[in-house]
Amino acid sequence: MTIDARHPLPGSRPLVVGAARSGLAAARLLASHGLDVRLADACFRGPEGAARGRALAGEGVARSWATDEPASLEGRDFVVWSPGIPDTHPVAAAARAAGVPVLSELEIGFLAAHAPFLCVTGTNGKSTTTDLTGALMRAAGRQVAVCGNIGRAACEVAETVPPTGLLAVEVSSFQLETADRLRPFVATWLNLTPDHLDRHGSFDAYGALKQRLFARQEEGDYAVWNADDPEVMKRRAGRGAWLEFSTRGAVEEGACAVDGEIRLAWRGGTERLMPVRELRLPGPHNLANALAALATVLPLEPAPAVLRAVLREYRGLEHRLEPVATLEGVAFVNDSKATNTGSLEVALRSFERPVVLIAGGRDKGQDFAPLAGLVRERTRAVVLIGEGAGRMASQWRGAAVVRAGTLAEAVDRAFEAARLPGGGTVLLSPGCASYDMFADYEDRGRKFKAEVARLAAREAHA
Ligand code: ADP
Repeated sequence: MTIDARHPLPGSRPLVVGAARSGLAAARLLASHGLDVRLADACFRGPEGAARGRALAGEGVARSWATDEPASLEGRDFVVWSPGIPDTHPVAAAARAAGVPVLSELEIGFLAAHAPFLCVTGTNGKSTTTDLTGALMRAAGRQVAVCGNIGRAACEVAETVPPTGLLAVEVSSFQLETADRLRPFVATWLNLTPDHLDRHGSFDAYGALKQRLFARQEEGDYAVWNADDPEVMKRRAGRGAWLEFSTRGAVEEGACAVDGEIRLAWRGGTERLMPVRELRLPGPHNLANALAALATVLPLEPAPAVLRAVLREYRGLEHRLEPVATLEGVAFVNDSKATNTGSLEVALRSFERPVVLIAGGRDKGQDFAPLAGLVRERTRAVVLIGEGAGRMASQWRGAAVVRAGTLAEAVDRAFEAARLPGGGTVLLSPGCASYDMFADYEDRGRKFKAEVARLAAREAHA
């Protein structure tokens, strides 16, 4: 049984593990090709769970369903894994022990797709760079689906894009845990700083997962590296042709910023694209993201005028250093997507005026101590929320730290502190995951914006 003659699947009776967005998309896609899909999830336990499993099977998403016990592997010839579930789970361990291949949902999308994959990975900037890559190629006239760890699952869109189109795919370390068939036409590595150590165990294990994106590349494929990040450069791998991007100096092939100008270097020639100041996206980290996106699309040779036009207009995504409102001279900024120390650091460096920082959330075992100096230097107050608050407070001694029980209280306290003479910016940049208090980072960002709207209404009536 094959999805596509070029890429045979390892069998015809998959066990799809995980019945959330990615797993359901994979199950639907495989079932539509006539495969005998069994869908497994911990949530199918108990009478209500069983009813849900039956209903999904009734809709044709799967032929059968099971809970997430190793026994669900019975009669299955391969497993499709959802990124939300760590691959240390007993079902994955049992499959490996029995020699049953475990593929990631992303790979099923790759095997089914007709169009090439442009993949972006890294600790921070993936969504912005992937979305911008999609915008650049769309403007160049190609049909592009932006997918993966952003918006829709690869399996949802894989077959909707014609061979002349492209898939711009955000790839996380979670998706790479079970990937070994994925072969991107272009693969881009933005940066590497500590994150997800609770799941991956160590920084090196995390880096090794990112490396997997490049492992299957062949001649004719392209790999894009961040020349400014030694952690990325020392992990370069694979047989694709290498390109680089740099905000600090020239590169041989790729994209760079030199003397305030964005330049493209391609096949021995140099194109002086535009002044850096014309880039609409703010901040040096976004210059890096823009250069990464440019290097990613270079092998497709879009017209420079098209690239220039997009970069002058592209504003970035919600919840990433997003200006919300200004109340009584206090600017509020929503950076809810900052879920690790790397993105928090970028946020703190992005403001000229003193910042009142709202941070905290689910603690992933990160070391916050390296940020202590920057926090003391850049903030006039810090309001901490969530499970990580205690550890952050102890690692940031010397900063003006207060604790708040709810986001509403945090926003009130931050506003009070930022209104004191000297002004300031209230910045939500948690440096932690959101799951202790919110559904996800988007929920946290939306609730922050709702709290700012509440303050605005209160001020209007005062
Ligand atoms: P990801 O998808 O990797 O999480 P996003 O584009 O969603 O990346 O941005 C996540 C967070 O990281 C935001 O807070 C953003 O301001 C910050 N950020 C974006 N690009 C970079 C970068 N190149 N380096 C460090 N931080 C970044």
